[in-house]
Amino acid sequence: MLTSEGYKMFRGTGEIHNTQTGALVETQHGDWLYKPEYDCWYVNGSSYPAECVKVVEDETKEVRTRHGRWERVGNYDKWICSRCKSENLYAYAYGDDDYELQDLFCPHCGANMDGSDKNA
Ligand SMILES: [Zn+2]
Repeated sequence: MLTSEGYKMFRGTGEIHNTQTGALVETQHGDWLYKPEYDCWYVNGSSYPAECVKVVEDETKEVRTRHGRWERVGNYDKWICSRCKSENLYAYAYGDDDYELQDLFCPHCGANMDGSDKNA
């Protein structure tokens, strides 16, 4: 689990539960992002209120000494990490409003995306 300024992010598996019955509704695997301003988790193009989500497996590598930057490739809607070359799905999945997320960290390799490239 990576955190920055109230945002949380992890790659892994989460369960979505019915908050009234406690029943398991569905399981999602992917890159999870929590936005404090909405108190919601976002994954695979869906959003869920935080109270419904239970993290069951967090595969995130918490290596925060890495540094990198998002590099725009090809057209305007694809960004990749300068370290691990993983694509930033949020850059186009949620539109321009979420471009600030690129400033935080890479969910794939855990790099701080401050563009410094130090400790690379
Ligand atoms: Zn990366």
